[in-house]
Amino acid sequence: LLPPLKVAVTGAAGQIGYALVMRIASGEMLGKDQLIDLSLIETDQGMSPLRGVMMELEDGAFPLLNKVTATTDLNEGFGDAAFNLLVGATPRGPGMERADLMAANAKIFAEQGKALNDVAPIGAKILVVGNPANTNALVASHNAPDMWPEQFVAMTRLDQSRAAALLAEKADVPVKDVDRVIIWGNHSATQYPDLSHARVGGKWAKSIVDDKWITDDFIPRVQKRGAEVIDARGASSAASAASAAIDAVRDMQLGSGDAWQSNAIPSDGSYGIADGIWYSVPTVCHGDSHYRRVQKLPIDEFSAKMMTKTEKELIAERDSVRHLLPG
Ligand code: NDP
Repeated sequence: LLPPLKVAVTGAAGQIGYALVMRIASGEMLGKDQLIDLSLIETDQGMSPLRGVMMELEDGAFPLLNKVTATTDLNEGFGDAAFNLLVGATPRGPGMERADLMAANAKIFAEQGKALNDVAPIGAKILVVGNPANTNALVASHNAPDMWPEQFVAMTRLDQSRAAALLAEKADVPVKDVDRVIIWGNHSATQYPDLSHARVGGKWAKSIVDDKWITDDFIPRVQKRGAEVIDARGASSAASAASAAIDAVRDMQLGSGDAWQSNAIPSDGSYGIADGIWYSVPTVCHGDSHYRRVQKLPIDEFSAKMMTKTEKELIAERDSVRHLLPG
């Protein structure tokens, strides 16, 4: 067995956190030979439910789980953590404007960025799940000037998985036969789930499904899948979000061959997207958290329009928190 790696999770007593920590402890994220020290971070109010989560982790008797700690202190929680999954965020309360939500979360992620800057070991990896995930990642990174922006990734993997599952259902194949589905842009309703390069059983998806289904059915359903789950379940998606976080970190860390995985990463101007926003693009994960953006894909007129729309939303989000960014 490999010596323990510390994994920190914020919002660990929340819905997603609850599902996530069990999967991390069982070895699904970092492999079945990797011992884990779990560092659970919560707010003061979250500490009581978190004690219950810790009891359940104990009762799970996970052979790979070396140690579990709980804290409200970010420096203690993130210190020495090789992986940091930032799940906790303020939910939109009744009557809360989007700008208020942005500001409340910007404050939380600014503090977390500062703490990570102070205590994260070199090469620590950060996955932001809490919404608005892309802009939270931007805020955290701006507050961590000694870290590489590329260390901060915002999760769009659930959107990709939803899109792949929907295409598989339409094409009547198992989801493993679908690849090269892309999510561009923001983890929000403006995201662009793109099938232009997708394959079904090695065949071009667009030779199997028609354009009308893509524009009228597929794209809006992926964009609004979260709301569909809330309507049915009476609560937001949690197990699937946790599962996507596991997939995203596992692929980053252990590599995923030449498969394309969408991740929101700092834009470098590729595809004409504004620099410095956390924009989801297809990446190839080489393992040990090295990833590279898939470059030079041909972009048709429809895709360009969709990509610009979600880019504009991310620029507006950045502008709305700009006064909270240092420098
Ligand atoms: P959840 O665990 O359901 O969600 C956590 C965050 O993940 C939310 O911002 C949520 O966004 C987001 N999210 C991202 N993708 C998805 C997705 N596909 N489906 C659903 N959610 C998604 O929230 P809970 O309220 O149950 O738990 C949050 C926990 O965080 C609480 O225990 C709270 O105490 C804690 N917290 C911790 C903080 C800290 O550690 N500093 C700060 C603030 C809160 P959305 O709201 O849009 O669904």
